[in-house]
Amino acid sequence: MHSTRQPSQPASLMRPSQRGPCRGPCVVWWTVLAMACATTRVAVPAETATNVASDVATETVPEPATDVAAETAALVAKLTPHIGHTLDVIELGAGKRFVRPTLEGINQQKGKVVSLRLRLEGETKSTSLLMTGIIKMIAGRETIYETTVKGMNSVQVRSRQMREFREKRIGESLARMQQAGVAPWPVLTAEQQAAAVADLEAFVVEVRQAFPALQSSHTHEFLVATDIPLGQIGPFLASLDGMHDFLCNLYGIPRGEPVWKGKCLVFAFLKEDDFIAFEGRFMKTAPGGAHGICHQSSDGRVVMACHRGDDGPAFAHMLVHETSHGFNHRWMSPVRLPSWLNEGIAEWVGTQVVPACRQVPLKEAVAIEFMKTKGSLGPGFLDAGADAHIDAVQYGIASGLVKFLVARDRKKFAAFVQNIKEGTGVEESLKKSFKASLADLVKAYGMAIGVPNLKQ
Ligand SMILES: [Zn+2]
Repeated sequence: MHSTRQPSQPASLMRPSQRGPCRGPCVVWWTVLAMACATTRVAVPAETATNVASDVATETVPEPATDVAAETAALVAKLTPHIGHTLDVIELGAGKRFVRPTLEGINQQKGKVVSLRLRLEGETKSTSLLMTGIIKMIAGRETIYETTVKGMNSVQVRSRQMREFREKRIGESLARMQQAGVAPWPVLTAEQQAAAVADLEAFVVEVRQAFPALQSSHTHEFLVATDIPLGQIGPFLASLDGMHDFLCNLYGIPRGEPVWKGKCLVFAFLKEDDFIAFEGRFMKTAPGGAHGICHQSSDGRVVMACHRGDDGPAFAHMLVHETSHGFNHRWMSPVRLPSWLNEGIAEWVGTQVVPACRQVPLKEAVAIEFMKTKGSLGPGFLDAGADAHIDAVQYGIASGLVKFLVARDRKKFAAFVQNIKEGTGVEESLKKSFKASLADLVKAYGMAIGVPNLKQ
């Protein structure tokens, strides 16, 4: 285990930065376990089709009545345990996806399941969805329904072709990782995902012995243990799933597909003293002045811990900032992003998900003054070494650079990050995606912010 800390900053530059989400240096702990996932190998994501859906009404392929009855019974048996619960995702033939809908009921007519009664995420009213429009349902990380080719209409076939295209691209990405000697995160079965969540819940039970006021609650992607009253913490939890969805969109990960090993575990303490005590006792760290710490293990587990502080938007921003580090850790492979890119993404995503927090623009203004004075990005900014970490004043440069790249081309930016996660070096990744060198990037960024001769 090692930590990355930042050297002290000139006093004149520290104050605005210290208002940042990490309240001083952002601390990301990387835990290498003795039993790291060294045996993980390239694996094409499994499509565990259950093929229970051939009774879906189509005008093209009528089914024998006996088969229809048996398949309807199988479908009802698969769906019934999920009534009253949230599904992972429902994919429609038209390419649309409903993420995290609640299944309220199954409507049958003449021995067939004709529609599902759902409450979509964020909605209060129920919606009826025809089975003929549905091509795939995932619940509990398991595919519980998928149409067969013979039962598809033309729209569904097109949607399946799009999915196959995406799977082809995933296969190509895995091949590049293999060539670069990078082991991707293993694709977990539904049982392995459930076991990973159970492990996290057992850890919460252990921690609760020392902190009895902790109450746990689940969002779709997060397990949160907190002693902050649930009425207060509720709005902040929404920003966690907001971060998850935002990065899924950025990286082109279909919503509802698993990223975390089980879930991302968040400990949120009311008091800073309890946060410090938790870190010392359970994570063997001393957080110093950090507002939150993201612990990323080489086995894929992500545990984030923090305390509330007295500034609501800053708390929400910190939650997003820290957990985004965990997301980047879990995307594709354990290859680490260089510090400037990791922190830049975290800050930028924080501003997108929590616009009420105004700290990042303040930090960027201070950073521009810093660059004007120094004529450079400051020492070690582009260092991609494992122990490298940018200074507090450089957070504003990091978010500024990420914003600059995203504004140039959002898709190329996602490709840039993907190239690095596949094992390509930062310089080469930038060349592949933006057709530019790091020197080109610094020069163009300097021009954009009014520091035309900006140096690395
Ligand atoms: Zn950070």
